[in-house]
Amino acid sequence: MCGVFGIFNGPEASKLTYLGLYSLQHRGQESAGIASSDGKQIHSFVQMGLVADIFNQDNLQKLSGNSAIGHVRYSTTGISSVKNAQPLVINYARGQMALAHNGNLTNAAEWRERLEKDGSIFQTSSDSEVILHLVAKANGHGTIEQTVEYALSKVKGAYSVVVLTPEKLIAARDPWGVRPLCLGKIGTGWVVASESCAFDIINAKYVREVEPGEMIVISKSGVKSVKLAKPKPDLALCIFEFIYFSRPDSMIFDKSVYSVRRELGARLAQETKDIAAGADIVISVPDSANTAAIGYSQASGLPYETGLIRNHYIGRTFIEPSQHIRDFGAKIKYNPVKDVLKGKSVVVVDDSIVRGTTSRKLVKMIRNAGAKQVHLAISSPPIISSCFYGIDTPTKKELIASKNTINEIKKYLEVDSLSYLSLEGMKASTGCQGRQFCDACFTGKYKIGCGGC
Ligand code: 5GP
Ligand code: MG
Repeated sequence: MCGVFGIFNGPEASKLTYLGLYSLQHRGQESAGIASSDGKQIHSFVQMGLVADIFNQDNLQKLSGNSAIGHVRYSTTGISSVKNAQPLVINYARGQMALAHNGNLTNAAEWRERLEKDGSIFQTSSDSEVILHLVAKANGHGTIEQTVEYALSKVKGAYSVVVLTPEKLIAARDPWGVRPLCLGKIGTGWVVASESCAFDIINAKYVREVEPGEMIVISKSGVKSVKLAKPKPDLALCIFEFIYFSRPDSMIFDKSVYSVRRELGARLAQETKDIAAGADIVISVPDSANTAAIGYSQASGLPYETGLIRNHYIGRTFIEPSQHIRDFGAKIKYNPVKDVLKGKSVVVVDDSIVRGTTSRKLVKMIRNAGAKQVHLAISSPPIISSCFYGIDTPTKKELIASKNTINEIKKYLEVDSLSYLSLEGMKASTGCQGRQFCDACFTGKYKIGCGGC
């Protein structure tokens, strides 16, 4: 997964990009980078690590100019190394260009092979680099935006991209609209970002989403919208963005994530009335399930309590004492509130179960804290298939719901009951009438193809 940001004609563009990336940090924590333009030249700085650790007054000062793009990365294709960190910056026949990409291309390997046969020399193992090679290949065929349009017409899969040239900022979204991308206004300038929470921090105003299949070209002469391809009659917006990935204070796909997530919880409560009727309290697995648990509480009338506290200061590795501590991994992240749980029949709301390993440990923890009963309620259907469009789901065989029945999962997790939201309930919660989703992780139906999965 990744987050992208772009700004055109903003004062201190790189500082505002830094703040935008800071708000998008949840979309990727492996590396971050900024490329800026002073109108003549592109400057860039990328590194492994978190936004707040990478950038300082010094390196931001060097990223001069009124336009910039930025990226936070969580690698899904290509290894996690600084070589693959974005924005990718190239020098080619036309000058310089920087690119930041969120999503996975499903035909990148084919293109890479073809381009390499033709003599291209790839610098990274990331799928995003293919776009730049295709842009370079199209050189001589019209304006910069026409060469970007050509490159994007050749790739398949998911892309929300921002491209910076010394004079222009280009933002584009694939015709299926898999990943979010929105447009905002700041003073006399423009901003684009994966999620609108990146606008709030810099006082930019949300305008609208970049439409699926739309390319927006921003330059001194204004803003131009280009239709990249005939709009697909059937979109493939990633529904997992609403369930887990995006921040609840964001607008994505022109909807409030908070409202959708609360509705997911409310519908889950409606679908599990019998369980709620016999329970004392509802708690969430923080932070990702907080909003759904509030929806569950409001719809069921069960009091919402904070039954688990999450520690936010988690580093990369922990030194475990030589004397074994049971469920050490989960304890580093969560601690139960005994006073809340003791003697209670508890509904625990979580947004999803992936491998089931964290959930199993949490259930044990909640029981050890004195809960009488543990009813696990999940605000999405069972995840049965991997994602090929940018979410880092493990392989199919590692997904607990791909090879176990709900009853088997219930036994493994040692819960008194296990409920999942229905597929219909999930879709209805989005309120996106006429807009369709990619729900391949829940159905195994890859409507946009997946390059030989
Ligand atoms: P499990 O019990 O399957 O090991 O873990 C379930 C937890 O994983 C849930 O709390 C859910 O919020 C979280 N989760 C779901 N998808 C992702 C993801 O793509 N990345 C990470 N880091 N956590 C996820
Ligand atoms: Mg979670």
